[in-house]
Amino acid sequence: MPELPEVETIRQRLAPALTGRSFERVTIGDPRLTRPEPPELVAAALEGERVRELGRRGKYLVVAFESGRHLLVHLRMTGSLQHPVSGGLDADPHRRAVVRLDDGSDVAYRDVRRFGTWTLLEPGELDEYFAARRLGSEPLERSFTSRALARAFAGRRAPLKAALLDQRAAAGLGNIYVDEALWRARLHPLRSAGELGRQELKVLRKAIREALELGIARQGASLRDYRDPSGRRGLMQKEFRVYGRTGEPCLRCGTPIEKIRVAGRGTWYCPRCQRREPS
Ligand SMILES: [Zn+2]
Repeated sequence: MPELPEVETIRQRLAPALTGRSFERVTIGDPRLTRPEPPELVAAALEGERVRELGRRGKYLVVAFESGRHLLVHLRMTGSLQHPVSGGLDADPHRRAVVRLDDGSDVAYRDVRRFGTWTLLEPGELDEYFAARRLGSEPLERSFTSRALARAFAGRRAPLKAALLDQRAAAGLGNIYVDEALWRARLHPLRSAGELGRQELKVLRKAIREALELGIARQGASLRDYRDPSGRRGLMQKEFRVYGRTGEPCLRCGTPIEKIRVAGRGTWYCPRCQRREPS
């Protein structure tokens, strides 16, 4: 599932192709992508829109149009974007939408599991949309401080892993980067979020940023599906410290990495570096 570094990589790659271009023709072949809105209505509404910029908020790609409207693209499990491509919807059985730009090139949206979403917002609706979903700070921006993290965690008994996955403390983290960040911070995934001390919060904030920055520098992690818009795999999977490394030695202390389940997700940690009891 693409997380912040994968979505950011896609944004960086696609921004030069989209910025300043108009959506000339839009075909959406899957009603699940736009529901509850009918796909043909969303497609018609998008035609003629000119892209002001391509942004990102958490795991959402945010296409900002000059009209003030926004198209939010969430890739969920297996969504991906390709550019440039040729052929219409029938060129690929998993292709769900195609946007013809005014330079004649096509952007295609592909999604095997079909959990991805396209949401068209009218001018002025963006902030409210994210607020309603309680989307937390952008972890790479200045507003993401250890104080902000403390506020988000205050009184929460949920395990750290769950509290970081639910997007309220920080937007854009998923299973991979939460495990990587907790290993860097030497924090056990089952510690209660609300019990972290000031120093631990500082270390965690820094660890989250480092894990995400490395992910972006390596153009994301390609485990199964993830590719950038030109079809290239990321390299982050070669640099995992704990994720998926069951039984392999911890890169800090040599102890075999263990796997447990937290919040229904496979979770990897070092039983020696990441103690359950606060140190
Ligand atoms: Zn260790």
